[in-house]
Order: sequence, then structure tokens, then C-alpha cells
Amino acid sequence: MSFFICTLNLLKGQGFYLKIKTDMDFMRQALTLAAQAKGMVGHDPLVGAVFIKNRQVITKGYHEKLFGLHAEFAAFKNQDFDVEGSTVYVTLEPCAHDDYFPSCAQFLIRKKVKKVLIASLDPNPIENGDGVQLLKKAGIEVITGLMDQENRSLNQAYFERFK
Ligand SMILES: [Zn+2]
Repeated sequence: MSFFICTLNLLKGQGFYLKIKTDMDFMRQALTLAAQAKGMVGHDPLVGAVFIKNRQVITKGYHEKLFGLHAEFAAFKNQDFDVEGSTVYVTLEPCAHDDYFPSCAQFLIRKKVKKVLIASLDPNPIENGDGVQLLKKAGIEVITGLMDQENRSLNQAYFERFK
């Protein structure tokens, strides 16, 4: 019996490991997307977003230029997608407040996504943590800090601004 439980725990452990690995793969994809706009976004952050359902990419987008669409909206700029129940990998906390563009957190809530993984919280004090709160309040599972360091080195100038 104890052998059985032990084996079960081992399998669970491996499952967890594989899941983390997959999460990192998708977040890396979002970071690679974000990096495509290097030199184009001015003082804005480089941000990428990937929408996943059943381990398949449904759509993806990135913040392409200064005052351009935020990554979450950019993923839908050419076509609308049904992302209900999907998991979103986004390199920066979705914005909570309407600015030049409507709030990305509200957009994800309207799109009925199930889970959002975020590399870094937005260091901008206007946003910091508010996007996460909004998503959580709407019943969306949120995980933060996945590849935070990688995102910070990609967005060094942006993070420096709010030190
Ligand atoms: Zn936004």
C-alpha cells in the first residue's frame, strides 16, 4: 500500500514538473513575441500575450509600437477568437484602468478566460496589483512571477522608470 502511495506521489510530482515546463514554454513564447517590438515602443513596456486552449495556441499578440494596441487586444486585431476557458500567458500584468485603450484585465474578464499567468506585476504604481485583483475578483485563477527575471531584463528601462 505504501509503495502504491509512493508511486502515486512520484507520478503526481512528474505531472507537476511537466506542467511547469509547459507553462514556461508558453511564457517564453510570449516573451519572444514581446521582444519583437524592441526599439518600437518608446517608454512603453515590451509585452506579449499567448492564449492557450487544450495546449494549443488559439491566438497571440504583442505590443507592437508606442501607443499601439496592448498585447491582449493585439491578439484579436485581425480576427475575433473564442477564448472562453483558455489560459493566457502574458508577460506584464494586464492593465486595470482605461487609458488610451480600455482595460486589458476587463477585456480578459469579458472574454471569459479561465486562468492568467503573468511574468511580472506592472511596476507603474497606477497599475501595480490592480489588474491581478480585478481578475481574481472575477473568479479567474492568477499566477504571477513566472519568468519574472527574464521579463525584467527584457524591460530593464521600463522597470528602472518606477524604481
Ligand atoms: Zn492593457
